[in-house]
Amino acid sequence: MAHALRNFYDLTRSDLLALAVRWGFSPVHAARLWSYVYPGGLENWSEMTELPARFRMKAEGELHFGRLPVATGRQSTDGFTHKYLLSLADDRRIETVLMRYTGRVTACISSQAGCAMGCVFCATGQMGFVRHLTPGEIVAQAIHVDTILRTRDGAGALARPTGRSPHDRHERLRNIVLMGMGEPLHNYDSVMTAVDILCDPAGLALGGRKITLSTVGVVPGIVRLADEARTVNLAVSLHGATQEERAALVPVAKKWPLDDLMDACRYYIRKRERRIFYEWTLIEGKNDSEENARAVGRLLQGQFAQVNLIPLNPTAGFSGVPAGRETARRFQQVLAEHGLPSTVRQRRGIDIAAGCGQLATAR
Ligand code: SAH
Ligand code: SF4
Repeated sequence: MAHALRNFYDLTRSDLLALAVRWGFSPVHAARLWSYVYPGGLENWSEMTELPARFRMKAEGELHFGRLPVATGRQSTDGFTHKYLLSLADDRRIETVLMRYTGRVTACISSQAGCAMGCVFCATGQMGFVRHLTPGEIVAQAIHVDTILRTRDGAGALARPTGRSPHDRHERLRNIVLMGMGEPLHNYDSVMTAVDILCDPAGLALGGRKITLSTVGVVPGIVRLADEARTVNLAVSLHGATQEERAALVPVAKKWPLDDLMDACRYYIRKRERRIFYEWTLIEGKNDSEENARAVGRLLQGQFAQVNLIPLNPTAGFSGVPAGRETARRFQQVLAEHGLPSTVRQRRGIDIAAGCGQLATAR
């Protein structure tokens, strides 16, 4: 009986080397295979001509490349954002977004199908939890975007936003945000294995500083991240500066209260000597007043932190309205008075529901 093939994209380089040894081969061949696939982008065994035939046959009989086929792809009218609905092997679907602004390309990738955290204004939260993604399913999203970048001058490939020159043919993916569907620290092990694969210096070699992970505030996950030696950037979704206000928008605040969250964040900053990016979705009349801004200022004062303000994006299950530009500017001013740098996230891809918190699929 045929046995199940393992997904190559689930393996770290050391996993692959160990497998080769277990099969009775030199790890040197495994290292060669790794570099065909990652920097090389090859998935066709017959093109891996430098692998000894016996090793290649064995690997071909044991491994497969778990690409995620595109169910649909959409492009925003300004051409800066592309959203892909990707199919998993069990026919579940996830969304991956390619964003092209502030002079660089960023992939926004998912860590789960759906999400169990139930934030009221988030389309993924509104759909509920479907399942965790495997490391390979997380890595495959990055490979998908990287492949599009490398091959986009081919037939039907990515249209370039107006005004860009066509000289950058061999663009590669350099920035990843784990801000798609799901809560990454609720799927800690798979996410970190994927991060290790993406950062491997003999592979895609993404710098850890080019990967940003956003959490709703899973306290044990933040502590663990602080204790482990990865350089990923950490973003923490705040949205409310008191326990009560936060819990009204982010139900899991009841499980991990604001005080505990702040303790974990201060521990992370101290231990890793890295700043935290706090996210604040600005909802008109709910959390966008000067008093709200002062409360954020008091809460975060003295922390090595930056606040990213995100004007609310529309979702079917939440009737709130985004705060206006002037309100956002005033909010920023108050934060600055407390010594807190801040940015307002550009709204992109709203017309194709590819903005923050708009990713959802039919279960
Ligand atoms: N689960 C993670 C990462 C995904 S969401 C987290 O919650 O942090 C990325 C950011 O978008 C989070 O800060 C989230 O709170 C925010 N967000 C969710 N829904 C949104 C919406 N409708 N409009 C604007 N931001 C939203
Ligand atoms: Fe999940 Fe993040 Fe959406 Fe909250 S905002 S429901 S944690 S994906």
